[in-house]
Amino acid sequence: MARRLRWEFVDTDTEIEALAGKSVPDIFSQDGEGRFREIERQVITGIGQRDKVVIATGGGAVLDPQNREAMSKGGVVVCLEARPQTIYRRLQSDAQRQKDAVVRPLLRGPDPLGRIEKLKEWRQPYYAMADWTVHTDALSQEEVVEEVLNGWRYSLRRFSSGEEASIFPPVSSRRYEADAPYCDPVGASFVVRTSSQTYPVYAGWGILKELGNFFKQARLGECAVIISDDVVFSHHGKTAVQTLKNAGISVFSFVVPQGEKSKTLEAASQIYDWLVEHRVERGCAIVALGGGMVGDLAGFVAATFLRGLPFVQAPTSLLAMVDAAIGGKVAVNHPKGKNLVGAFYQPSLVVMDVETLTTLPPRELTSGWAEVIKHAMILDPGLFAILEENSDALTHLERGIATEVVQRSAALKAKVVEEDEKETTGRRTILNYGHTIAHGLETATDYADLLHGEAVAIGMMGATMISQRMGLIPREVVEAQRRLLEKFGLPTSRPAANIEAVSRAIELDKKVKSKAVRWVLLKAVGETTIRSDVPQEIVRDTLLALTR
Ligand code: NAD
Repeated sequence: MARRLRWEFVDTDTEIEALAGKSVPDIFSQDGEGRFREIERQVITGIGQRDKVVIATGGGAVLDPQNREAMSKGGVVVCLEARPQTIYRRLQSDAQRQKDAVVRPLLRGPDPLGRIEKLKEWRQPYYAMADWTVHTDALSQEEVVEEVLNGWRYSLRRFSSGEEASIFPPVSSRRYEADAPYCDPVGASFVVRTSSQTYPVYAGWGILKELGNFFKQARLGECAVIISDDVVFSHHGKTAVQTLKNAGISVFSFVVPQGEKSKTLEAASQIYDWLVEHRVERGCAIVALGGGMVGDLAGFVAATFLRGLPFVQAPTSLLAMVDAAIGGKVAVNHPKGKNLVGAFYQPSLVVMDVETLTTLPPRELTSGWAEVIKHAMILDPGLFAILEENSDALTHLERGIATEVVQRSAALKAKVVEEDEKETTGRRTILNYGHTIAHGLETATDYADLLHGEAVAIGMMGATMISQRMGLIPREVVEAQRRLLEKFGLPTSRPAANIEAVSRAIELDKKVKSKAVRWVLLKAVGETTIRSDVPQEIVRDTLLALTR
């Protein structure tokens, strides 16, 4: 275009990089989006006053009101449109050609196309304000130039007939890319926003080795304390330590024996002693590398030591990825009960490497699928269909689909947490679907023979049976859930469990909380209702059916 008009050409990113003395991704990660926009404003306002210049701005420039004003006053604003698929293809070939660091973050993550779609959606209201739009999908570069020239001539004619210089109006609101639903802290799969913390979640295959970069991007400082258990650390400790060291971070590690017996105040206390001994100070972040046990224990330490250290979750079990690592509940057990001593303490960063699941014991993996199925049952019929169609690929941890499903399931949990961070509105209650009977079974069997996910699977069967008996769903839903649980190798009954003991445990729970049992029931796949009026005999019949 500049060549055709014999005008000067300016790419704002090049000018910004020259002014800042560093690359655009470096400005974003080291100085933040605010600083980037500041320099961008300076550049655009400066060039906007010059004559005979063709300016290529970055795609996010229009989000800033001052940029929009400078652009509208400075000349004709043309938007080069393309469908998300076209953009994706172009980015891929650019990345291959240039090894371009600006392009790659957008392509990272399990669903780059989805991210591009969301990004377009976020910016679209501003793109729609351009004086002229060219749909570039099917055009060659020459044809695009021709179309831009047409628009330019047309706009000039319009302006000279006395119309506004540009219809690209200044709008007062300022939108930051960081606030966009697709969220950049560059390349995150999604962002969790709560009143106490907004944090990116990265879910991908083989991304533990990038932990150091994510840590840096999140500006978590120069020092990390990894807390892990002996089994997880033997598989993945080296990778985690190395990536952090490569990013210039000093790393300490504290390893506890695997298993629930390590989730105690005594273990926390040993870690405090060790942190004091190693003079760990406020600037240091705690990194939980492990399953839900490690996440809860390390989170508890992070929440309490020095009144709170930054906290990173690197979950390595399926249950931790889709459940425990998201939502900020941290705790240790008390001899009188599980999770009795704890806090709400959100992490600053979550990095889930789905590939680490390949070393998880098969029974633990199977157990984790119960929480994924739970999310589908209460919130997401689309996920239910994906699970039905891909059970084989998923149980074999096929990379693409496993990553997609873990990410989707974790994002569902995040959504509920965002709506009810501290269990005050009641929304978070739906996550207890299947858990009333599950807790009863776990207590009655002394946590001896069922993994949590297995108990939840049986509990979910109980909840659908009760839903059917209450006239809320037809039998087909009960059977569809049963088939799905079975496909994933999960139990749907626990023969010979003592139903008196299970009932007692449910009743006791009710007494402790001094209210009626609140059953999370289904009205359809993806739709729940909470009921406190389930008759005793329906509960009893259901428990009988589950233990036969
Ligand atoms: P876990 O952390 O004990 O892990 C289970 C077993 O798998 C352990 O032996 C562990 O060493 C091993 N393991 C984990 N990842 C591995 C890997 N990649 N390779 C090899 N072995 C691996 O248990 P869990 O099932 O992950 O979590 C259960 C805990 O989570 C419980 O303490 C529960 O209370 C808690 N939890 C917390 C929340 C929350 O919101 N905070 C939610 C649900 C559960």
